[in-house]
Amino acid sequence: MSKALVCPCEDVTLDDVEGAIAKGFHDVESIKRYTGFGTGICQGKSCLNTVAQVLARTPGVAPAAVLPFTPRPPLEPTELGVLAALQVDEAEAPSPGVPPFLGAPVAALRPEEPVPARADVVIIGGGIMGLALAHNLAKRGCTDVVVLEKDYLCAGASGRNGGGVRMQWGTEANIELAKRSVELMKQFAGEMGINIWLRQGGYLFLAKSQAIAERLERNAKLHNRHGVRTEILSPEAARELVPQLTLKDVALAAYHPEDGVIFPWPFLWGYAHSARKRGVRVETFTHVTGLLRSGGRLAAVQTDRGEIACQTVVLASGAWSPQVAQLAGVALPNQPHRHEILSTEPLKPFLGPLVSLLDSGLYFSQSMRGEIVGGMGDPREPAGLEQGSTLRFLGRFARALTEQLPVLGKVKVLRQWAGCYDVTPDNNPILGRTPGLENLLQMSGFVGHGFMMAPAVAERMAEWMVSGQADDLFSRFNLARFSSGTLEREDMIIG
Ligand SMILES: Cc1cc2nc3c(=O)[nH]c(=O)nc-3n(C[C@H](O)[C@H](O)[C@H](O)COP(=O)(O)OP(=O)(O)OC[C@H]3O[C@@H](n4cnc5c(N)ncnc54)[C@H](O)[C@@H]3O)c2cc1C
Repeated sequence: MSKALVCPCEDVTLDDVEGAIAKGFHDVESIKRYTGFGTGICQGKSCLNTVAQVLARTPGVAPAAVLPFTPRPPLEPTELGVLAALQVDEAEAPSPGVPPFLGAPVAALRPEEPVPARADVVIIGGGIMGLALAHNLAKRGCTDVVVLEKDYLCAGASGRNGGGVRMQWGTEANIELAKRSVELMKQFAGEMGINIWLRQGGYLFLAKSQAIAERLERNAKLHNRHGVRTEILSPEAARELVPQLTLKDVALAAYHPEDGVIFPWPFLWGYAHSARKRGVRVETFTHVTGLLRSGGRLAAVQTDRGEIACQTVVLASGAWSPQVAQLAGVALPNQPHRHEILSTEPLKPFLGPLVSLLDSGLYFSQSMRGEIVGGMGDPREPAGLEQGSTLRFLGRFARALTEQLPVLGKVKVLRQWAGCYDVTPDNNPILGRTPGLENLLQMSGFVGHGFMMAPAVAERMAEWMVSGQADDLFSRFNLARFSSGTLEREDMIIG
């Protein structure tokens, strides 16, 4: 065992990096996400070169494939108090921001060998939905499955989210799914052998307006009927949970102690490893470019590494799903919307719950590594597959956060990034068979809560696919509801 430190900020050794490469992670972005190197205070300044050198001397890795990871703003760690003083014009639309990718690295990383010529199931998208489904199918004996991911694993929303996990929802269906997901998350480390850093510190929702306060009260009653013991708290009682909160203009709060946070990256690795171990092929840097129709069915999936003839295609492409569905001539109503997020330097543990102000879409929590991780929706954000980072977000978020938690004013922001919410007209997912194209299964539209829903949804979906037994989830949330008008609105959406 080598104890040579490559990343002193995050204690990542040469052994860790070589171990990741041996597991097949042959690009810097994946090694970063697998080992955590480059995510500490120096943001890769002291370790990126070493990792690149180790990767470059790996047999089979082409020099063109050794690319740096995407640099994240701000350039220097910057105090939240300084950012809060930025002038932001609320009436203005946000700019595209700093682009998330340096160039076009994907072509250099694409494997040379062709994809398999046939498979029972092809899943398009290697995010949490696609990987959790692949794991669950393989567990039920359906192993002739190929997952196609155009980028590295964790490149989509699943690698960019806040890791929040809660049972406080506004519909019965989501409460029950979230309850099951939390159960599965508690078993995850034991079953998969990987730590997802689940910390059940609760979710504390704050309401400023009367309308939001009434929504929290109404939904708390629904939670209680489903065995979720959400409590409505006065601002004084909420301050007992987080004494540092100002609770400025807050009318009331809702608190459920068994909600919490997880660390997203290992969650994806766990599902990917388990699926691969059972025979599933997870093909990264493989772009789906076409869907071949034949007599009311899909016959094959075309990629930039060849064609796969298959029985069933699952569309699990997150915010890209409308684009991919279009390849088969199917129109989806989802729209992508950028959501920005950031992480600070680590602090001693002090913040128990994830706190969210539903009126503005502000949310923040403390990770197991001590960082404050948080984001905030922007009502001016137009629809589009935009993942750039903006100064506007830093200003808006820092002001809203320090209004509630001024004690963080001197804490420095280390990095910001963005991902896309995959938004449907009723804030609920699109699941089940595609009308007119029966073997195209939908699994998208999870807005800002797909990460926490994935364990339960994937379990139900695999069972439904393998057993052939009816399941209300796949008719209730079918694509057909948008034309029949049987929408079921979810109103506990942050941002
Ligand atoms: C800032 C932010 C914060 C969030 N916070 C939370 C939270 O706290 N809790 C929570 O539960 N959820 C949260 N979410 C939402 C959550 O991340 C998503 O709902 C979830 O990750 C969606 O998973 P997915 O697998 O559907 O999509 P993705 O993870 O986006 O995966 C889809 C994949 O499909 C791939 N793909 C697209 N087109 C193609 C193609 N043509 N060929 C091959 N592959 C393709 C993409 O590269 C991508 O990797 C947040 C999202 C964001 C952006």
